[in-house]
Amino acid sequence: MIAVVKQSATPEQLQHFIAWIEGRGFKTHVSQGEAETIVGIIGDTSLIDPFLLESMDIIDRVQRVSEPFKKANRKFHPEDTVIDCGHGILIGGGNFQVMAGPCSVEGANLIAIARAVKAAGATILRGGAYKPRTSPYASQGMGEQGLELLCEARAELGMPIITELMDPRDTQAFIDRKIDIIQIGARNAQNFPLLREVGKTDIPVLLKRGIAGTIDELLMAAEYIMSEGNEKVMLCERGIRTFETRTRNTFDVNAVPVLKNLTHLPVIGDPSHATGYTRYVRPVAYAATAAGVDGLEIEVHNRPSEAWSDGAQALTPEMFGDAMRRIARIREAITAEV
Ligand code: PEP
Ligand code: MN
Repeated sequence: MIAVVKQSATPEQLQHFIAWIEGRGFKTHVSQGEAETIVGIIGDTSLIDPFLLESMDIIDRVQRVSEPFKKANRKFHPEDTVIDCGHGILIGGGNFQVMAGPCSVEGANLIAIARAVKAAGATILRGGAYKPRTSPYASQGMGEQGLELLCEARAELGMPIITELMDPRDTQAFIDRKIDIIQIGARNAQNFPLLREVGKTDIPVLLKRGIAGTIDELLMAAEYIMSEGNEKVMLCERGIRTFETRTRNTFDVNAVPVLKNLTHLPVIGDPSHATGYTRYVRPVAYAATAAGVDGLEIEVHNRPSEAWSDGAQALTPEMFGDAMRRIARIREAITAEV
């Protein structure tokens, strides 16, 4: 349930109202927008009489939120969430960023790839140190050594880094190294203990859509993180498993406007895992941009044929540079006054 507070309410009246609600055993979530202040009421709100609330002087109107996701719901928080990823990089609310780098951190080539993607306009460096591989015999990533390499690249280039966390027991290693963005991969999109664990940190999280996850499941996964206190969540459309076999996954372009409508959280498109083939990555990146994503995550490798993982979908730095120039043109087209 949400209660829209009148513009005329004083901060004291608002505090008094919140204390009254919380005193009845509910949790609250206050969203102070430019146009209005909204108090989200979380709990079994069937016990609350909406007419009683509406009779209060400071309340403009009361609305039931029927969806099970609350904190991620745009009704609770009408304005776009803007996430500060460090190094002056903001995502959401009109701030568009591109995360790029190799699928796996592999060693000394990371810095060369990082320099190249930065030169092409990427603002966040990606690289997997802990890799979720289908086979236990495939490379599992460099682990903590990979985190160190990412930190070295960050120090040289002054750009935030994003890397995947798979095991709650590694969370402290991410906190100690001040990892800027934690990625939760598609395979862990419903790993509830892991979601709760990252929810206890204050590190921005990029939450990927599950391999066969619905939009509602993605929103509920975000709710797990947010309900622990961490509201810095970005949602990532990275393709879903369908009956199609010509591509690795199917990029659900619909999910972009649907999510933008349902939630205030930034939405990121990942055309690399969505397609699985280098030749399809750029067109799908353009489609995601045109559909209104707040950012993209794209895999780039200097020698795709030698990549430890996902070489078949990597762009070379040259291809990435070409993509960035076109993405900028698409952004101009969709944000222009017409
Ligand atoms: C990745 O980003 O390399 C990755 C494994 O992504 P996903 O979880 O979307 O498959
Ligand atoms: Mn990958």
